[in-house]
Amino acid sequence: MKIVETERTRHRRLREQGSLDRDDLHAVLAAGFVCHLGVVVDGRPMVVPTVYGLSPDREVVYFHGSVASRSLVEAPEATVCLTVTHVDGLVLARSVFEHGVNYRCAMIYGVPRPVTDPEEKLAGLRCLTEHATPGQWDYARRPSRKELAATALLALSTREASVKIRTGPPGDGDGPDAGLGLWAGVRPLRTVWDALDPDPLLPPGVEPPPHLG
Ligand SMILES: Cc1cc2nc3c(=O)[nH]c(=O)nc-3n(C[C@H](O)[C@H](O)[C@H](O)COP(=O)(O)OP(=O)(O)OC[C@H]3O[C@@H](n4cnc5c(N)ncnc54)[C@H](O)[C@@H]3O)c2cc1C
Repeated sequence: MKIVETERTRHRRLREQGSLDRDDLHAVLAAGFVCHLGVVVDGRPMVVPTVYGLSPDREVVYFHGSVASRSLVEAPEATVCLTVTHVDGLVLARSVFEHGVNYRCAMIYGVPRPVTDPEEKLAGLRCLTEHATPGQWDYARRPSRKELAATALLALSTREASVKIRTGPPGDGDGPDAGLGLWAGVRPLRTVWDALDPDPLLPPGVEPPPHLG
């Protein structure tokens, strides 16, 4: 399915890196769990790193925090911009000007909806937990009524979004700088989970659950 462009999401610069494929959007969102939430608080911009989860129907991104968090409390009243970025490599060209980054990036705009329905709130928090660590919701203790009351959950529709993806080598391989005799190419970057680091306060014999294996 295609992403419907709006005046806000229409790519202007580096248009060839833009994607209008909704599957690309969902793939970028599925590949991460930390976003940057851009919100205007008291007339000033604030960009907050925060965890998110994509709903199973992929219609909504959930994010949460303390009810005392200014970025979350203010967010429902105004348009926010939520950005997810994955860096896949450094593009090292012959000229400094042509250097770049291989990346997958999504930006979502909208007015977040505060989730107050208790059932949706639990489902949204489940979605957040499962997005980052599948299997963890059923393993860990669920939030208490008091913890739920202290948590603000917001839902942002994925309808108004833009995606940009850059892949491939530098762009100056067939230009005048190709004759400089300099090495050029991509320095790939990967993010991988490392070995588990058990809490030193764990009593002996408590093994990690299989979903962390
Ligand atoms: C890790 C990383 C590093 C980057 N470094 C640079 C850099 O050093 N210099 C540079 O010029 N550009 C860089 N970019 C690209 C940058 O994000 C912008 O796409 C680019 O600068 C064009 O900006 P603009 O405001 O002119 O975009 P416009 O084309 O005017 O933006 C129009 C609309 O396109 C969409 N859009 C723009 N950029 C993105 C994006 N990255 N992802 C999803 N949607 C987008 C937004 O909805 C935006 O409102 C980088 C991107 C990434 C992910």
